[in-house]
Amino acid sequence: MKASVLSVFLAVPTLLALAAPAPAEDGKLRIICFGAHPDDCEIQAGGVASMWAAKGHQVKLVSVTNGDIGHWREAGGPLAKRRKAEVERADAILGVTAEVLDIHDGELLPSIENRRTITRLIREWHADIVMGPRPNDYHPDHRYTGVLVQDAAYMVTVPFFCPDVPYLKHNPVFLYYPDSFQKPNPFQPDVAVAIDGVISKKLDALDALESQFYEGGANGSIELVPSDPSKQQERHRQVRLGFERRYADQAQRFKARLGDFYGQPKAGSIRYAEAFEVCEYGRRPDTAELKKLFPFFGE
Ligand SMILES: [Zn+2]
Repeated sequence: MKASVLSVFLAVPTLLALAAPAPAEDGKLRIICFGAHPDDCEIQAGGVASMWAAKGHQVKLVSVTNGDIGHWREAGGPLAKRRKAEVERADAILGVTAEVLDIHDGELLPSIENRRTITRLIREWHADIVMGPRPNDYHPDHRYTGVLVQDAAYMVTVPFFCPDVPYLKHNPVFLYYPDSFQKPNPFQPDVAVAIDGVISKKLDALDALESQFYEGGANGSIELVPSDPSKQQERHRQVRLGFERRYADQAQRFKARLGDFYGQPKAGSIRYAEAFEVCEYGRRPDTAELKKLFPFFGE
């Protein structure tokens, strides 16, 4: 083989991969949360998201699918539009930014294209914190959202993966939402946050996701949607109460971890909580860094 031909094969790409410029040093955190459907982020992290936002930190909630089969009566484009409007209302209540990707509900795959999309979103947000579901879950979209976010955990720092968007020099902390699945391993809370101060705001936000909770989403039915106004009110109350119980149960379930961060007796008086597990990929924060990332424990 002639040297000139060989040099073609040895040629180093001349394309420049640029590192993302550091975001303005304003002391504000940048958080991006991923959920499979237009409601998952709000359910899992709506409380802490609104607490960050109230302190001026930048929070974005991304639904990786458009939710277009998530109802018992309607589907397709009109449902996708309806659900986008719902999360925009909910996220406005929480004070955070909403984004819904136009991928069909129930059809999400951990493809290269989707890996690129998630990587770009994290880089563009200059994220310090990334949240997503664990990859063990009953719903394939939840599972693959978990896989996609995990797959991005290292790739966000790799210059020549998606060189069109500047890579991150500082690897974010990746966190998982809680779930109850036991196999292959149960959720382990690394940080737990009291959401008592924002519980009504969170319940208001979830109430705005009418198609999913008030109407029951994919497994709902006409029986859930009364025509009588007093029964409608009662239905709203039930939905609210169901979620209130959920976050009260989480405060019980994660009591020990709340104790680690708030100390006693304060932890014992916490009524509602959210909790997160640190992913083994991405940056591994120690307790001191977790307290900076969740600047709520002295309150
Ligand atoms: Zn979901």
